[in-house]
Amino acid sequence: MQTDTLPATDPHAIGRAATLLRAGCLVAFPTETVYGLGANALDADAVARIFAAKGRPATNPVIVHVADRIHAKKLVADWPDSATHLADRFWPGPLTLVLPKAPCVPDIVTAGGPTVALRIPAHPVALALLRSCGVPIAAPSANRSTELSPTTAEHVQRSLSDRIDLILDGGPTSGGLESTVLDVTTNPPTLLRPGLVTIAEIEAIVGSIQRAGSVGDDAPARSPGQMARHYSPRTPLTIATTSRRHIETLTADGARIGWLTHRDEGEVPGVSRVLLPADPVSYSARLYAALHHIDSLGLERIIVEAPPDDDAWLAVRDRLHRAAEA
Ligand code: AMP
Ligand code: MG
Repeated sequence: MQTDTLPATDPHAIGRAATLLRAGCLVAFPTETVYGLGANALDADAVARIFAAKGRPATNPVIVHVADRIHAKKLVADWPDSATHLADRFWPGPLTLVLPKAPCVPDIVTAGGPTVALRIPAHPVALALLRSCGVPIAAPSANRSTELSPTTAEHVQRSLSDRIDLILDGGPTSGGLESTVLDVTTNPPTLLRPGLVTIAEIEAIVGSIQRAGSVGDDAPARSPGQMARHYSPRTPLTIATTSRRHIETLTADGARIGWLTHRDEGEVPGVSRVLLPADPVSYSARLYAALHHIDSLGLERIIVEAPPDDDAWLAVRDRLHRAAEA
């Protein structure tokens, strides 16, 4: 049985979704990053349903979404000045702040840890839902664990159909990649996951920050929940410095290959090529949709042109390395 999808423009959609959330049900909804799978963050049983529906390991904490800063402060035991400055600049928006948790936050939300991850999303549907339901919403990406994150309601339907109670369809999400996760319990703050807000943008507000482990490099980060294999298509994916010649060689024996690149060297006959924009923001916005598409073609291998080395591409490199075969 398919899960109901309601267009977010339906006049009853937000009210129905809010009622379901307050009753402990699961609702997928659009944010400006990717689609989230939401539950009432103060209801441990409801949050447990998120973990069950996704097949998410209990060691991976979830981000809590709030309508405004007043709600955010109710969930934390301390609110450092750095949080004020960062929230002034980036909220609503794709920056998640990790803070000491208040006792009201159930352990399952934080994977038993002493901190909680919070953000105010910028998407009008997410904000309307948060205001209407009146409770904070715990929401990881709305896909089964380790799969690609969803950027359309259809991606959610394909991954979680019949495991959740409602999908609010707000069209394709604009950011395309997940939020940046920044721990502000350390001084200076620590980057736990690169995302749509760049290091340069954060450092312009709070000065130099630290990077956990080797975020964005070949090895996975060591922070909680930063799983090495994550965001993965089913088709084996390799990152390489590609060239037209290289791709032609790979397909010489008839191998069915997908080629994802941001450098236009022309089509190669017999190869499914997706050409992405060469700037990191537009590339991010389209990356998951491109991977969902190329993954649906039933190819033998996806070759992705290695993105540039600079910090503006850090989040893209991080996701591609997690999507690639070990
Ligand atoms: P997602 O499934 O995309 O929502 O991922 C949520 C991300 O936030 C994961 O990388 C988590 O490890 C991270 N996260 C959530 N809560 C915390 C926390 N309390 N401390 C550190 N990282 C967290
Ligand atoms: Mg996820």
